[in-house]
Amino acid sequence: MALEEYRKKRDFKRTPEPAAAAKRPHRSKLPIFVVQKHDATRLHYDFRLEIGGVLVSWAAPKGPSLNPADKRLAVQTEDHPIDYADFEGIIPEGQYGAGTVMVWDRGTYETDPPDSAAVQLSKGELAFTLQGSKLRGGFVLIRTRLGGRGQRSWLLIKRQDEYADRSWDAEKYDWSVLTGRTMQEIASGAPAHAKKMTSGGQIKE
Ligand code: MN
Repeated sequence: MALEEYRKKRDFKRTPEPAAAAKRPHRSKLPIFVVQKHDATRLHYDFRLEIGGVLVSWAAPKGPSLNPADKRLAVQTEDHPIDYADFEGIIPEGQYGAGTVMVWDRGTYETDPPDSAAVQLSKGELAFTLQGSKLRGGFVLIRTRLGGRGQRSWLLIKRQDEYADRSWDAEKYDWSVLTGRTMQEIASGAPAHAKKMTSGGQIKE
């Protein structure tokens, strides 16, 4: 039921996006999160948390930030299937969300306090800690009245902790954690290449 809207928007004969796997494809005990950089009509970052068997999703025009001073608008979109976390590539012209998709960051998360993410979601305030390659530490997602009528607008905010970074600039992190590729390389169909990254997100060739 939760994925009805996702399926309705897509023609799986034309888009390489997954139609939804029967089984959870990830081995982690903890729920996963993924951030996909998406060069669609407007460039944005899709922030997704595994909740109740699907990826609950938000589109953030400016992407997540490690700077606690940033309040990043995140508009909730349709739930995506769990295996969407592995999707990187090109959604063809004429299809919903046409453009290049990068797996920008991925990892696991835990809610703080450790109560149900579904309950927090329904209350409009989610607090969680991310364990990703680029994003780490505490964040909150808070429902807000900002944005247009009927928009499900939230704010994504970094909490103050040792992972907070006041000089954060998402533009400096333009590589896939899945294939090492930049948006341009994905768009041109370049093969995957190794990029070793430190936990601070700096590239080491
Ligand atoms: Mn998107």
